[in-house]
Amino acid sequence: MQPADRETVTGLPPGIAAARDTLTPMLSQYADLCAAHEDALVLFQVGDFYEAFCEAAETVARVCEVTLTERSDSTGDYPMAGVPIDNAAPYLESLLDAGYRVALGDQVEDAEQASGLVDRAVTEVITPGTVVEDDLLESGTTNYVAAVAADDAAGESGSAARVGLAAVDVSTGECLVTSGDADAVAGELDRIAPAELISGPDAPDFAPSDAARGWTPHEYDDGAFDRRQAAERLEPYLSAPDRRFASDAELRAAGAVLAYAEYTQGDDGPLSYVTRIRRYDPHDRLRLDAAAQRSLELFENRGLGASDTLFDALDETNCALGRRCLERWLRRPLVDADAIRSRHDAVGELADRSLAREGVADALATAYDLERLVSRVSRGRADARDLRSLCRTLAVVPELKATLADASGDAGGTDAVAEEAGSDAEFPRTDHLRDLRERLDALAEVRELIDTAIATDPPQEITEGGVIREGFDDDLDDLRATEREGREWVADLETAERERTGIDSLSVGHNQVHGYYIEVTDANLDRVPDDYRRRQTLKNSERYVTPELKEREESIVGAAERADAVEYELFVDVRDRVASETERIQGLADALAELDALTSLAAVAVERDYVRPELRAEAEGSVESDAGIAIEGGRHPVVERTETSFVPNDADLPRGSVAVITGPNMSGKSTYMRSVALAVVLAQTGSFVPAQAATLPVFDRVFTRVGASDDIAGGQSTFMREMSELTEILHDAGPDSLVLLDEVGRGTATTDGRAIARAAAEFLHDELGATALFATHYHGLTDLADERERVFNLHFTATREDGDVTFLHRVVPGASSSSYGVEVAELAGVPRSVVDRARDLVAADEADRDRRTNGTDAGARVDDGAASGEELSGDKDRDGDASLREFLAEEASDERGASGSDSGDVPGAPAESGDAGNRSPDGDAEVPAGGGTDLAAALRDLDLARMTPIEALNALYDLQSRIDDDG
Ligand code: ADP
Repeated sequence: MQPADRETVTGLPPGIAAARDTLTPMLSQYADLCAAHEDALVLFQVGDFYEAFCEAAETVARVCEVTLTERSDSTGDYPMAGVPIDNAAPYLESLLDAGYRVALGDQVEDAEQASGLVDRAVTEVITPGTVVEDDLLESGTTNYVAAVAADDAAGESGSAARVGLAAVDVSTGECLVTSGDADAVAGELDRIAPAELISGPDAPDFAPSDAARGWTPHEYDDGAFDRRQAAERLEPYLSAPDRRFASDAELRAAGAVLAYAEYTQGDDGPLSYVTRIRRYDPHDRLRLDAAAQRSLELFENRGLGASDTLFDALDETNCALGRRCLERWLRRPLVDADAIRSRHDAVGELADRSLAREGVADALATAYDLERLVSRVSRGRADARDLRSLCRTLAVVPELKATLADASGDAGGTDAVAEEAGSDAEFPRTDHLRDLRERLDALAEVRELIDTAIATDPPQEITEGGVIREGFDDDLDDLRATEREGREWVADLETAERERTGIDSLSVGHNQVHGYYIEVTDANLDRVPDDYRRRQTLKNSERYVTPELKEREESIVGAAERADAVEYELFVDVRDRVASETERIQGLADALAELDALTSLAAVAVERDYVRPELRAEAEGSVESDAGIAIEGGRHPVVERTETSFVPNDADLPRGSVAVITGPNMSGKSTYMRSVALAVVLAQTGSFVPAQAATLPVFDRVFTRVGASDDIAGGQSTFMREMSELTEILHDAGPDSLVLLDEVGRGTATTDGRAIARAAAEFLHDELGATALFATHYHGLTDLADERERVFNLHFTATREDGDVTFLHRVVPGASSSSYGVEVAELAGVPRSVVDRARDLVAADEADRDRRTNGTDAGARVDDGAASGEELSGDKDRDGDASLREFLAEEASDERGASGSDSGDVPGAPAESGDAGNRSPDGDAEVPAGGGTDLAAALRDLDLARMTPIEALNALYDLQSRIDDDG
């Protein structure tokens, strides 16, 4: 919450505090509001402006880029800055963006009727997580404020065993509660991506990950987290709140988040539209942590096509309700096979029934954001136009029900459609759609009420009349009739008086100050009748009233004022009656949202040729032993939209297997791995998948880790971070996890990286039994396939013609033989002489490597390939060698190989100093002038600049034990 460059501006501005004794009554009122809202910037209504004073004025001027003016009164001279109330939204947005909470100090009595100083009160505190104004909120996205709280026991044991998390979207009334250990809660926070986070005493510190929108953690009144207070707070929302939650931590978090939400809404008392407090267990959904969300680009894409995310590819929703629902589904895919199949059933049926689907889509496209509307209604903030929008949305429901109940839904369609859909078949067939149809509550009485009460095109302002329809209320109609008759009488007056007086130029007019008048020019004054009373003298004329005109005027004004007041009362009454149906309207909103999300999934399935995935899981809990992923002709749902000729690939991964994927850079490894993971995520969201056929198990977690150097765009390319994410995977992954590792180990020196990559792959296979895809440029890793039962190699191929490389983007079994880095360099336009030289070096290196492994000279291999234009792939023969230690030794000697010297090793010899000139271009393979043992090489390769002391100690310890092993 606290921006770094923030001056002292929230709460009571120091300038105001210092002058406390000499403040004018208005400033004194301002000071009181500031003091009562210490953590907010108070904007104070003065007429048509929101003003701030003293230091707060400086902040407003700076952040909102408005003029800083000076005000003088008995308090002295002080700065003032303001923003226009009727166009406050962009300024409020700037303040929120700059990290401020804003308290709106509105005039709460009519300025004209106030006897002295107008009364003002804070009507709302606007914070990033609790805004409800439509123009400050993105449509179709959720906006949560979240609270985290520790268990009762936390303080005593010193560690928060269980952390409670509650989140509420104040604009819709949705409220979620869950709990878990700190890691699980961190994952949920990433998923929920709240705009704001408040934390209770003893709660662990959570920092926003970059997958999440940067929330602003801050502390909030500790009392709100108190168990007893929280339980009391929840009483109006839930019966027996103590029993509704799984732990005290949940109860505290829920109580606190609602306390905060109530505070920001400026109302005393509960938020009546928060009717759905949903508690869930993080394990009930497919868990995707921040790293997975980020690297699978579910909601954010940091690369070139920044708008190309899975969500964008999937979003064919027709209204904001559906869009938010789809977002929720994708953030939290299912793990219950029956629930997933039920969504697939519905999507399949909607996909088959094109006409019905389009009918549903058209109807939904006219639906307004019912959730936000009803929360405004319930908060007493809805105007007449909001009620009309609500009514129009309710009007869609019968149409939708009819579409969904029509047994011959597609009868009017083309023969092809009818045939495909089997149009005499009953529609809908699936329980899911039938259930949705039942949940479409048309709320006929509410619709009727609004329709008869509210004008069809009402003004925005609800206090100025014109919002209630004629015929709704007799008293109101009488008042309006009196007003109308009066005005008609006045309208006829001009003709009548002209006739009576014979003054042709006589006119009747009206102005704000004097009301109605009869105007006579000076030339005709002698003909003015006796009953005219002079009101005003102008340059060339006089204005008069008559007793009758006066009387009429009073009756018109009286009737109009009373009518406005009656209208306001009637409007509020209608709004309250609508508000009393909040829960039903929310139920309808949920059903519309789900229907829209399903329709969107069906539209995508049809338009992009997705297929229904078959799930391996028999029933809940029972999983076929080694049934794994089997995808035919799988595609990447996002890349296929931009790539003109996307090459589909198969994926056959038995459960618990590890696929080691090699191939040149840019050959399609990452895309392939991600399309497998995205198929899993899509399937468990309820979507069809981009493939010709797919059979999938139900996973409970998807992990991804992209090597640090591949993630530079994220600005977070530290090896430490790469390792801590790897740690998380190696701790938490299990047989029901899908793990994607993309170039893990890249962030450190080659030898270390290689060792870590191999050790991690072994651990995944041997200990965790996770299903994993591992893309790597460490070719040594392909040996694992010979050593481990469920490890196999895949690689991507390229062809080379006339010295150019063309990537085939096709996955084939086996390991690739070389990284083709030089060809990629050439493709990228590296000067020919450099490419040629690099080619020579590679040839020399390979020759040398072969000499050492086989004792033969096979140096010309690369050139042979170049001439023939053949496919550059094939298994790399290596002697199977199980031990990591030997592997390390071998890899280390590979690196030294370039010097051509592997003799003269001195066991344990220290690295020579002063040989920086021998560094290879990538800076990590140092070439010893006089050679050295594998130990010496390993020692030299330690990248001391990047290691922590502990890492260095561990590495030393390893090396020591190798000396011991070697005897
Ligand atoms: P790698 O991980 O091997 O470096 P990527 O998966 O990042 O390669 O792919 C590089 C580029 O190749 C992608 O951005 C995409 O444009 C293209 N590409 C990848 N896979 C395919 C495919 N199956 N069909 C067509 N183009 C592809």
